[in-house]
Amino acid sequence: SENFSMVAPHSKRPVNEDKIFAASRQAKEAIEKYGFENVINSTVGALLDDNGKLLVLPTVIKVLKNLPPEEIAAYAPIAGLPEYLETVKTAAFRECMPEGYIEAIATPGGSGAIRHTIWNYSEMGDYILTSDWYWGPYKTIAEEHGRKITTYTFFDENKNFNIKSFREKLNQLLKIQDRVVILLNSPAHNPTGFSLEISEWEEVINILKNFAKNKDKKIILFSDIAYIDFAGEKNKSRQFMKLFGNLPENILTIVSFSMSKGYTLYGMRSGAMICITSNKSIAEEFKNVGQFSNRGVWSNGTRSAMKILAEIFKNSELLSKVETERNVLKKMLNERAQSFVNEAKKIGLDICPYKSGFFITIPCNNPELVSEKLKKDNIFVVPLQKGIRFAVCSVSKEKCLKAPLKLLNAIKNI
Ligand code: PLP
Repeated sequence: SENFSMVAPHSKRPVNEDKIFAASRQAKEAIEKYGFENVINSTVGALLDDNGKLLVLPTVIKVLKNLPPEEIAAYAPIAGLPEYLETVKTAAFRECMPEGYIEAIATPGGSGAIRHTIWNYSEMGDYILTSDWYWGPYKTIAEEHGRKITTYTFFDENKNFNIKSFREKLNQLLKIQDRVVILLNSPAHNPTGFSLEISEWEEVINILKNFAKNKDKKIILFSDIAYIDFAGEKNKSRQFMKLFGNLPENILTIVSFSMSKGYTLYGMRSGAMICITSNKSIAEEFKNVGQFSNRGVWSNGTRSAMKILAEIFKNSELLSKVETERNVLKKMLNERAQSFVNEAKKIGLDICPYKSGFFITIPCNNPELVSEKLKKDNIFVVPLQKGIRFAVCSVSKEKCLKAPLKLLNAIKNI
């Protein structure tokens, strides 16, 4: 019968087609039928050129192609190539290295870092804290491991970081749990494009320090910087990382590094989790559990991708080439986003506070219905729980300019 099932109870999951992939598939069908220029496919979370082709950093690919076959084919050490583990610290922090004991473990993208952090630093059944706008896989990864997501309100009435809600929610959680993992994606947050100002970061850290006065409580701040290389000047966007130094030992900060966006190596699955702690043995423990988890889940990461990062940072000429190429993409992304933002403002389309990044979010009622309506107009977006996500990263400036009015009409007419 249809009700018969073989999976173990904990692995029974709702069978929803991934919304992003579903919308993306329908967009492709529309393009076949009506032509690329008549369709706006804003579902793809990668930088595409104006014709819908994936953009890559040529120098990164050149370094890959120049690697000797053994470097491409061989395993990497379980924790990651040693030279990679050194390089990721530089790549993540640049000139804003915090003070403290810093260790890194290679993971398959930032996703792997999220997985290990949730598994190793929260307990079965725990709540993981994030903002009410969040990247869907946070929930998937939490649930895959028997945890639940709970949220605070991301924005206050002035569209700033809602520090009050953050404090209240964390307070509630620390009453029922002895440890809390906080997933905080900034700068260039997915899906809103929001970034915390340095003063907002200071408030966050002060709140954590206050709660950490209770030594029975353990706070793990997971700083997801997946889009940082598209969030303005490299050291300015990293200023907040300095705040991760010299914190009490019951606050552990884990920075999640990813090569997916910043190096356009999405599918090569390379990232790292980097801990900052004032206690040496906590750093060693981090390294040990990370290594154990790597072995226990995916063994090791992609050697060639690790090698690429190490090669780039070894050679200042290569690094500056990568940065120059990335700046071209950054400029294109900014122009697209600004076109959207300005037009939205002009016509009165309310959007979440966007500062930088791949996505803009439009809060609305009944997002599923709005996105269905938009499909009839050949506009493909991703419906979220409380709004729709428009990927400026994958749509031409011209289309970014056209979209807001169509979105406004669709939202008004439901
Ligand atoms: N965090 C956020 C908010 C993301 O949007 C993504 C990718 O889309 C990631 C982390 C991790 O990506 P990856 O596993 O490819 O590094």
